[in-house]
Amino acid sequence: MDFFEQLRRNVTQAGQTAVDKAKKAADILKVREQIRQDKREIRDITYRIGKTYIKLHQNDYEEEYEKYFTSLKAVKEALAEKEKELRRLNEHIRCTECGAEISASDDYCPKCGTAVAFDAKLKEEETIDTDGDGKTGQEECEEE
Ligand SMILES: [Zn+2]
Repeated sequence: MDFFEQLRRNVTQAGQTAVDKAKKAADILKVREQIRQDKREIRDITYRIGKTYIKLHQNDYEEEYEKYFTSLKAVKEALAEKEKELRRLNEHIRCTECGAEISASDDYCPKCGTAVAFDAKLKEEETIDTDGDGKTGQEECEEE
């Protein structure tokens, strides 16, 4: 075999190796994605089993489930507290300049642009507006 023939064969083999490597890499990605999907499905089914059990047995669960139901109750109570806190934080306060209702989360009055001082927020929070219409100050300003 002469030099050029050997060179041609080497180049061809290198090309074939690159093709094999690319195909293998694609196969790896494909199988990894399939594994991810299977794991997602297992998690989903497991979650639905748990939801169904909670629904059917929240008042007559076996002893082994006690800690889960206890934890669930504690987290639900903590969540309710946080949601209450969030509603409180979103209560309306009034702009010291124009009197427009503003949200406690606003840095500036949406009506007149006055900066809302942090200490003013604290002071105003003691006289929270309780019209309870569920709208932010900004939404009410836009209505006018
Ligand atoms: Zn204002």
